[in-house]
Amino acid sequence: MNKSYKYQQAVISLCVMFAFFLKPTYAEVVNADSIIYGDYVVTMVTDQPVIEDGAVVVIGNNIIAVGTRSAIEKKYSAKQKISGSGRILMPGLINGHTHTPMTLLRGFADDLDLMTWLNDYIFPVESTVVDKDFIRVGSELACWEMIRGGTTTFVDMYFYANVTAEVVEHCGLRAVITGVALDFPAPGSTGWDNSFKDAVEFVKLWQGKNERITPGFGPHAPYTVSPEHLKQVALKAKEMKTPVSIHVAESEIESAIIQERYNASPVKHVLDLGFAPGNLITAHMVHPNEKDIKMLVKHKVGVIHNPTSNLKLASGIAPVSKMLAEGVLVGLGTDGAASNNDLDLWEEMRLSALIHKVKMNNPTAIPALTALKMATSMGAEAIGLGEETGQLIAGKRADMIQVSFDSPRLSPMYNVVSHLVYAIDANDVVTSMVSGKLLMKDRKVLTLDSKSVKDAANAKSRIIMKTLVSGKPSH
Ligand SMILES: [Zn+2]
Repeated sequence: MNKSYKYQQAVISLCVMFAFFLKPTYAEVVNADSIIYGDYVVTMVTDQPVIEDGAVVVIGNNIIAVGTRSAIEKKYSAKQKISGSGRILMPGLINGHTHTPMTLLRGFADDLDLMTWLNDYIFPVESTVVDKDFIRVGSELACWEMIRGGTTTFVDMYFYANVTAEVVEHCGLRAVITGVALDFPAPGSTGWDNSFKDAVEFVKLWQGKNERITPGFGPHAPYTVSPEHLKQVALKAKEMKTPVSIHVAESEIESAIIQERYNASPVKHVLDLGFAPGNLITAHMVHPNEKDIKMLVKHKVGVIHNPTSNLKLASGIAPVSKMLAEGVLVGLGTDGAASNNDLDLWEEMRLSALIHKVKMNNPTAIPALTALKMATSMGAEAIGLGEETGQLIAGKRADMIQVSFDSPRLSPMYNVVSHLVYAIDANDVVTSMVSGKLLMKDRKVLTLDSKSVKDAANAKSRIIMKTLVSGKPSH
């Protein structure tokens, strides 16, 4: 082997080494299940500005990545791609308080105060017509309406909770489902012992069964459930680590009743009964006093503001600005369709942004972004699901909607958040996804049949009318 050959070999070896080290490295493209695009991606992550021409990547139930189209497409491909042209992509809306089967009593009794509405119309008609079939039909109708309107999560409180849970399991929404419990006989129960026992069985049956369904307890209100029974619920909910949904401080009459019976405000009365911090989802909260608001913060109570229901039943206007300023977690709810008369969170958002401006005599009270937070990220925290949903961020469940802004009615658009609160409505929602599964595409609901839902509801309404003996619709 001569010197020049050795030299040649050394040069070749060096070249091979350099070639190896200089070889360009291509990052592997990850195969995802879905990539959903949006001309605007509103993540609702604090300090995260709206992403223009963005996308969200989904694998299984979860969001894997959020970013601009160009950044996402460098790293991910997917079998299913959903165009975002002319669309806003955002977290699905959270309806923090409703009674889904009451869609069947939509328009049944209007223009009444809370106690007359409840005692003379709702309770009597419920005791006559509510059975498992009523719950199934009413829940399906409600879920169809919520999917169409961009709600992806709701908190329910009604009778035969097991039937509503079965409907939710099938239709694909996320829900906290609480079986209502009352001291007096009600549909499916002869009184407290019976309804509480059923509620415990319901929680046992559904806890850990489906990641989309969180079972809980739903004692109706402090004026329909005794303190002894509320203590029973507090203890059991703590033991079973499950949420409790309850109406609190809804009307002035309630405050007077509780004050007279127990010498306390409704909030103090309920919170002194031993509910675990972070366990309570309280609906309405129209009449808390200053001390009550401090207690709500201390006990980490979620408050659900229901502006339409509160206006319709003339219950009052909740001190939302004050509660938010003190650090209370406030979400939004529709209440049941019998006191609204729909399940449209866009209306609740808009109303919450408007009525408090008048109440506070201040046009900066509840700005659009705050209203949007109450319907998404803060709403999720208020119902104890802040870890799972309410924002578009890697690690959370893939719960999102696309909203079209193609209509001339929505042109021009200077500020996407302003449009979402003040201009867009339920009919602009085009896509709904929960836990990575599409529930609506191009405005077609995929998990429930629109015609059979509507036909079943109309057939049920004819039976309801025939069954009624004394409880007649007001109009
Ligand atoms: Zn309610």
